[in-house]
Amino acid sequence: MENLFVIKFGGSSITKKEENKFEINREVLEFAAKELAEAIKQKPELKIALVCGVGPFGHTNVVKYNLNNGIKTPEQEKGVKQTNKDCSFVAEEVIKALVKYKIKTKYVPGYDVCVQDNKKAVSFDAKPYKEALEKGIVPVTTGIMVKDKSLKWSPMSGDVVIAELARQLAPEKVVMGTDVDGIFTADPKKNPNAELITEISKQNLAEVLERVGESKATDVTGGMKGKLEKLAEQLGGVEAQIFNLLSAGNLKKALLGQKLACTRIRL
Ligand code: ADP
Repeated sequence: MENLFVIKFGGSSITKKEENKFEINREVLEFAAKELAEAIKQKPELKIALVCGVGPFGHTNVVKYNLNNGIKTPEQEKGVKQTNKDCSFVAEEVIKALVKYKIKTKYVPGYDVCVQDNKKAVSFDAKPYKEALEKGIVPVTTGIMVKDKSLKWSPMSGDVVIAELARQLAPEKVVMGTDVDGIFTADPKKNPNAELITEISKQNLAEVLERVGESKATDVTGGMKGKLEKLAEQLGGVEAQIFNLLSAGNLKKALLGQKLACTRIRL
């Protein structure tokens, strides 16, 4: 789809993921919404699909109610409901921030579009996204618990949505905001000598995958390594850019094709 950007607001940037708090990072959400509106104003042909990580709103619940390996008890069923309520809350907060800047949005809950089997997506319906995008509406989806053929319910990462939309809608670009400048030679939070990898291509992908570490915060769905593996599998020819959403200005630059510190993935 021409002029389509699939954007990820990482859980590490729009929630207090590292502190493991059920809290939205309002400051970041506020400037991200503003920059989105400014980019649309400068480039009215832009179409945007927004995928949000949920940080603790998902991961903490999944651990607390033991939701990662099959749902068997009423207590776990209750946990699924609670998790989905909390993840939908993140979507509502994001939507509120966008509406403030007069951006038209539609919440597309992940459990309405994705079915998994043993924690892997086996079907993903991109129709609600297409319909919204054609009307100039920004569809918003979060990581959430979805139906699972073997486990009843299982957690679906926002990155699954990114991969599916990349595959099915062939966007111009995928832009992923996180809490570091991109993919480094090691976890930059643990290793001060870690260097930013500015380009990932077929040539260096295997080497990069070997070096990247896991996320520092509780993340049942894989951290940076899992993210990159899935992306590499499913991006096809779509270009992706990973950048720091904690720094104001970066999102707008990414959307307008301006220079910024980041990792570009072209496979
Ligand atoms: P998000 O919630 O934004 O999707 P994650 O928490 O899943 O992001 O992944 C981002 C985190 O991954 C960073 O905060 C960083 O500490 C960690 N990380 C681990 N290894 C690397 C690496 N090689 N390069 C960049 N970040 C890494």
